[in-house]
Amino acid sequence: MPNFQAILNTIYNDTVKATDKGNVATYIPELAHIDKNNFGMHLKTIDGKVYGIGNYNTKFSIQSISKVLALSKAMSLIGNDIWKRVDVEPSGHPFNQLALLEINDGIPRNPLINAGAIVIADILVSNLENPKADFLNYVRELTGDQSIQFNEKVAHSERETGFRNFAAANLLKSFKNLNNPVDEVLDFYFHQCAIEMTCSQLSKSFFFLANKGKCVLNKTRLTKTQAKRINAIMLTCGFYDEAGEFAFEVGLPGKSGVGGGIVALLPDHFVITTWAPGLNKKGNSKLGMFALEQFTTKTNLSIF
Ligand code: GLN
Repeated sequence: MPNFQAILNTIYNDTVKATDKGNVATYIPELAHIDKNNFGMHLKTIDGKVYGIGNYNTKFSIQSISKVLALSKAMSLIGNDIWKRVDVEPSGHPFNQLALLEINDGIPRNPLINAGAIVIADILVSNLENPKADFLNYVRELTGDQSIQFNEKVAHSERETGFRNFAAANLLKSFKNLNNPVDEVLDFYFHQCAIEMTCSQLSKSFFFLANKGKCVLNKTRLTKTQAKRINAIMLTCGFYDEAGEFAFEVGLPGKSGVGGGIVALLPDHFVITTWAPGLNKKGNSKLGMFALEQFTTKTNLSIF
């Protein structure tokens, strides 16, 4: 076994030195004042060992990382019926792009771009009794941590400025691929994105995807096949028009969010989470990607 703590320490020292840390997302005003000098990294191995460095216990906005947890909840509720309403092809385009939606008759390319995640949100609104509370509870149960909350200010801030998401939802509605009112679905979507978690909580919450569907509390959340499928979607679609670059540099299924978080995993081995709020031009954490590339290179642990 590599000396994981020593490797994290080295990566930390090399990462915090970087002069170009990218830029924090400003299109959601509430995220604009986060300090881009934050950097945290947390590793949880399949045998339950944990390692951390930097700000790995600081809460941040998980944003699009929530799309993976929403997809897994939808899969556990309606199984393969999901694929009648959303495809599984990489988009090669930014997370908020709308053009392909129109070409594909209202079927989003995959569940991890915004249009696809809004369809998944619609499925959850239709199938959960108290959608927001039930979803938050699902995330808490996956993590084994009842303290996880929405940040209402972030949800509100995105609602005020989320013109493109309103456009996507209205387009989906016009193609009859949204069953609930636009406002209701987006209220759910903005809240799922506004969940706040730490790196260590995120590593726990994604553990079931590295562990053939069984979560940290040893409860079966998905079948082995469903977990495999979500990992495949993360590998091909988790970084939008940078999915190829992430596979090339890092070589793990993973998901980023504009709050600066990235969760990546190696099935049957580990989950690793980074947080560095400065983003690159494609909206993915600049130093998070660098740190993960260093991790898989130094440990020689990747799916390739
Ligand atoms: N809530 C953000 C949005 O819909 C999520 C984007 C992201 O994290 N890539 O724009």
